[in-house]
Amino acid sequence: MTTFYDLGLPKKLVEKLIATGIDKPSPIQERAIPHALEGQDVMGLAQTGTGKTLAFGLPLIAKLQSYGRPPEPKTVRSLILAPTRELANQIKESLGVLVDGSHFKVGLVVGGVAINPQIKRVARGTDVLVATPGRLIDLLDRRALDLSQTDFLVLDEADQMLDMGFIHALRKIVEFLPAKRQTMLFSATMPKLMAEISGSYLNNPVRVQVAPPGKTADKVTQGVHYISKAEKTNLLIELLSKHRDEAAIVFARTKHGSDRLVKVLVKQGYEAQTVHGNKSQGQRERALKAFRNGEAMVLVATDVAARGLDIPQVRHVYNFDLPNVPENYVHRIGRTARAGMDGAAVAFCSPDETDELKAIQKVLKIEIPVLSGTPWLGMTDPSHKNKPKNTGGGGRGKGGPRRSGGGNSQRSGGGKPAGGPGGGQKRRRRPNRGRAA
Ligand code: AMP
Repeated sequence: MTTFYDLGLPKKLVEKLIATGIDKPSPIQERAIPHALEGQDVMGLAQTGTGKTLAFGLPLIAKLQSYGRPPEPKTVRSLILAPTRELANQIKESLGVLVDGSHFKVGLVVGGVAINPQIKRVARGTDVLVATPGRLIDLLDRRALDLSQTDFLVLDEADQMLDMGFIHALRKIVEFLPAKRQTMLFSATMPKLMAEISGSYLNNPVRVQVAPPGKTADKVTQGVHYISKAEKTNLLIELLSKHRDEAAIVFARTKHGSDRLVKVLVKQGYEAQTVHGNKSQGQRERALKAFRNGEAMVLVATDVAARGLDIPQVRHVYNFDLPNVPENYVHRIGRTARAGMDGAAVAFCSPDETDELKAIQKVLKIEIPVLSGTPWLGMTDPSHKNKPKNTGGGGRGKGGPRRSGGGNSQRSGGGKPAGGPGGGQKRRRRPNRGRAA
């Protein structure tokens, strides 16, 4: 059995790690750490939950601890870029505990909070700076930061940074960095644009991979309810009521839809919280804190929260709306079954989400088991006049779900067309999509 010592990490650091309860390297750590310690660029294909933060964090800390002198004012010795504030904060926390009680400075630079305290903090010089691209550029523009002595760059969740349109920000940031540096890039998927990124920012990288992109965590039980949009809320309430004391994340597509859903859940007596892009950083942090410490059992989120969130007790993920980007499904359901626990991911598919579900199943290379209802055949075929064709609904419809916990058989069995105001969600849709009336 390989240990953290075998990977070449310093004894003190490993002892600190073991004190946090982490005593055996995960596969991505086993593969990436020795190369990173040797100074090679690394391109890691790994999803959240695999331990990738420590895969880049441990070698980074090990190398920086050997410097033996503090960083100069305004300088940053290593820069970790992450797509969301939540992920950035989480990385900072994970690495912070490993350098607790030392002079080593781990900083955080994210938007949504006052910039002046950040300017003050970075003025002293930082060993590891975790940042979201937008705020970092703000600080660079104000000359509050000096990246000319940055020896290490980490791009975490690089695919999401691209999805979020950070490509120009990345290009700009890299111009401030010295060409001679070590770069590590971690991504759950490898879209085409990544080839450009890795080609321009990495130098002959070692590729490490632990699970093919699109492969979901083995421990997540998946299922889908075919249900009309108008009935999703009732089904959600019914399913949540079966596990009131277990943490659940509900993914909605829009900010407005998330707010609406939270209101309904609160009325039903749930301590529900929401995180989405319209919330201030303070609100987002408070919501996540309440969810983390168990005060709120339900978190309604848009994809802002899909990546990186590491809350081990999450047992249920509901895809109330299916994501437009199929890879986001993988990230969403990766919020459960963490830290070796089981988890259930339940998707709701209304007729106008048929294409999204197909795309998800294509990426996953599996068919998600049907929990209730009947696949909405023909919904994208204009010759069906936008009415769902419910093939022999009897067996599925009245027969009930195939799995305990579904319980919505009568609802979905009728193949009631979706749409209508019931779902209350504004959606961006392709105009030629077949839709139920
Ligand atoms: P990440 O993929 O970096 O988001 O890590 C997911 C979770 O796994 C975090 O809670 C880590 O603390 C935990 N973790 C990371 N490495 C290990 C390990 N080698 N053994 C057990 N847990 C780990």
